[in-house]
Amino acid sequence: MAPEKNWKGKICCIGAGYVGGPTCSVIAIKCPDYKVSIVDVNPHRIAAWNSDDLPIYEPGLDDVVKACRNRNLFFTTDVDGAIVESDIIFVSVNTPTKKHGLGSGMAADLTYIESACRRIAQVATSSKIVVEKSTVPCRTAESMRAILEANSRNGIRFDILSNPEFLAEGTAITDLFGPDRVLIGSLQTPEGLAAQKALADVYAHWVPRDRIITMNLWSSELSKLAANALLAQRISSINSLSALCEATGADVDEVAFAVGKDSRIGPKFLKASVAFGGSCFQKDILNLVYLCESLHLKEVAEYWRQVVVINEYQKQRFVRRIVHALFDTVTSKKICLLGFAFKKNTGDTRESAAIGLAKYFMDEDANVHIYDPKVTDEQILMDLSEPGISSGIEEVKKKITIFKDAYSAAEDADALVICTEWDEFKALDYQTIYQAMKKPAFIFDGRLLLDASELRKIGFKVETIGKPSPA
Ligand code: NAD
Repeated sequence: MAPEKNWKGKICCIGAGYVGGPTCSVIAIKCPDYKVSIVDVNPHRIAAWNSDDLPIYEPGLDDVVKACRNRNLFFTTDVDGAIVESDIIFVSVNTPTKKHGLGSGMAADLTYIESACRRIAQVATSSKIVVEKSTVPCRTAESMRAILEANSRNGIRFDILSNPEFLAEGTAITDLFGPDRVLIGSLQTPEGLAAQKALADVYAHWVPRDRIITMNLWSSELSKLAANALLAQRISSINSLSALCEATGADVDEVAFAVGKDSRIGPKFLKASVAFGGSCFQKDILNLVYLCESLHLKEVAEYWRQVVVINEYQKQRFVRRIVHALFDTVTSKKICLLGFAFKKNTGDTRESAAIGLAKYFMDEDANVHIYDPKVTDEQILMDLSEPGISSGIEEVKKKITIFKDAYSAAEDADALVICTEWDEFKALDYQTIYQAMKKPAFIFDGRLLLDASELRKIGFKVETIGKPSPA
């Protein structure tokens, strides 16, 4: 066996998902003197990371992985082996919302965090820095410490850091290469601060020191929930205004442009849409609401809960508008959903608005056509079938058809619904599409993606979120 390289340090990441995979691949490419192992209990996911067909789509990710895989970056199911040899262990497992809430908030399900910590404690033979990469409720580090200390061998230290991830899916690699900030929270003890410095030294390989922010553990944990809550709140704010625009004749794009010119407000994240999706915003807000309720901060909980309420309302409003325009029924009509991912440049469908829309149309016995450039057929079928019903996927297949391109999906359709803002939908030949559709041919733009006046010149009837219906 060849002698092992003299690594400056060894890092392991438990959880090879949307966060663990890209984050630690970037650490590997930027820190060639560190050995980085990304581990997962899911062998299919690890096999995909080791293949030419990575398990997630993210622009630029392929190049990063190919540049360092099997050099200083390793994907493996050998969780124990990676734990034993590493000095720094990222915990980047899923923290979904619990199925049943106690009140209007929903607690985060920390099952996977707990099992990762138990595993670390049971197999570690030396002291470790354990890094919370997952988004967790405030003070989770306390529970992690309790689990680690109760299950480990004598004399082993665990220093726990909070290092929440701020990447956005679809731009993960650019976000990781040039982050606005890297946040590291630790206990303010000599050992905690030493651990904080060790992690800061890893990021300092490419992140300017003034962008590496250090603070106490609880501030860091809460900052992640606060950031997602504020981002989602901004979307719900503009979406609530989009309802007002539709009712008054104002145009939400113009309103967003005008208010965004105020330097205190700024133009980013002011795009109205059918709703926000993704695995994080709703989950993290419900988690914040739960935290507030458990601390008896009822009014604060209620304030944040409205962000999710408006998001649901926006989806329902959009569906109602579609049905109303289609002469108050979609039964037996062909409705073509363009886009199924929760946003462009990702194949991720978690909490995607398209799922709710498709389910509504299926329930109303419409024929649903679906096209998305990156989402797999299997994923769409899984998202639309009821969990636990074995015949689910067969039932779904009777109601939907998945297409490999937008033109075939639109053929003979009564309506196109833009669910995801993929760039390719802007470049379609709508003249050709119009010819192939039933008349009147409708387009419902849930992403303010298309030029409605151009489409109307072709003959389409166009309804856009945040813009009044034409008289
Ligand atoms: P994911 O579901 O894509 O990946 C989690 C992985 O962890 C899965 O592959 C699962 O098999 C693995 N896993 C679970 N328990 C394990 C264990 N005990 N040992 C080994 N592997 C285990 O989730 P994700 O989207 O990468 O999110 C991870 C965390 O990061 C969540 O807390 C999420 O809220 C947070 N986050 C996500 C994003 C995002 O855009 N997806 C952004 C920032 C933060």
